[in-house]
Amino acid sequence: MKSLTRLGSADGAGKFGKYGGQYVPETLMEPLKTLADAYRHFSRDPSFKKELANWLEHYAGRPTPIYFAGRLTDNAGGAKIYLKREDLLHGGAHKINNTLGQALLAKKMGKRRVIAETGAGQHGVATAMACVALGLAAEIYMGSEDMERQRLNVYRMKMLGARVHPVDSGSKTLKDAINEALRDWVTNVEDTYYLLGSVVGPHPYPTMVRDFQSVIGKEARRQILKQEGKLPRSVVACVGGGSNSIGIFHGFLNDADVNLYGVEAGGHDMSRGKHAAPLVAGREGVLHGMMTYVLQNAEGQIESTESISAGLDYPAVGPEHSYLMSIGRTKYVTQTDMDALHAFNQLSQLEGIMPALEPAHAISYATKLAKTLEKEDSIIVNLSGRGDKDVDRIAKQFPQ
Ligand SMILES: *Cc1c(COP(=O)(O)O)cnc(C)c1O
Repeated sequence: MKSLTRLGSADGAGKFGKYGGQYVPETLMEPLKTLADAYRHFSRDPSFKKELANWLEHYAGRPTPIYFAGRLTDNAGGAKIYLKREDLLHGGAHKINNTLGQALLAKKMGKRRVIAETGAGQHGVATAMACVALGLAAEIYMGSEDMERQRLNVYRMKMLGARVHPVDSGSKTLKDAINEALRDWVTNVEDTYYLLGSVVGPHPYPTMVRDFQSVIGKEARRQILKQEGKLPRSVVACVGGGSNSIGIFHGFLNDADVNLYGVEAGGHDMSRGKHAAPLVAGREGVLHGMMTYVLQNAEGQIESTESISAGLDYPAVGPEHSYLMSIGRTKYVTQTDMDALHAFNQLSQLEGIMPALEPAHAISYATKLAKTLEKEDSIIVNLSGRGDKDVDRIAKQFPQ
């Protein structure tokens, strides 16, 4: 492994090694610079930090506990499995950590209008919630195909007072919604803040979203030391854009003995177009303003993706993951749709906790990993969200 001195920060141009950066049209350079300057200023401002901590505690429900999953552990046979309970947060997932942080920043920057993209609708809902709480107007871009598939979340956004704009270009899904949101931002940058949903996009988003999510890892490290008296052997998290995983990894980045595993969506199988695993099966390229691993064909056209979990269904990944993989600090694996469904049933029936299908991928991998480790070891799995949103989908799969 190379020196750890660069871990945990991007350089001035927002690069993690050769990954990240700002591969954007000229017109976006100025808004991004203004945003980076504002973020640098407020992230060091004690009153901003205090205000955000207050929202996270009293509105979102932090700190979340770690829970020793005793019956899951016995069933797997091996290392102790702990769950970091981000599913207990307001809205049911880790996304509120980021939306509260950025909405507060938007407010401090004097913006009144917040725009966001959403795929499954989870980030759109979390954005709408944070905007209501902070008195901002929210407008959400969503692919028309996704709106059809995730109707419940469209209603939730509307009930929370957000406007939802259907996007009919391209594949009518998340990547097209991001393009549309970026277009809106360029046109309306004067009064508009673009609230991006994961550790992706041009600098400063990967760093900023990472910082807002790193509260997960900070808490988890403190909690496991208190409970176990030592660090875990491994930390496991699912990787869509990469925000819940980078958030928990960051607490342990400099603990060289803690193995960090990111679990990508293996989808139906690992053949072309049937998965969503850019780190395991993609190539380096540029998408949405960043250099990173991307699922693309020989001509560099973006490949279609497939996963049972809408939150993991994205053809690229945050650039910091690409960097951490390149220096060997993190490892990436895949679990299939069937693995995730199996883990959903296991956790529901052994622990009375229904995980979202995204972290079900991580649970599945952790149970396999546990078998290879000693009983004195522990593993922390980031339970990034709860499964209520997926119940319909699962009921269709298992009618009994
Ligand atoms: C959105 C979502 C994800 C995927 O996003 P990341 O940025 O990779 O964290 C994972 N889990 C849940 C519950 C989500 O809602």
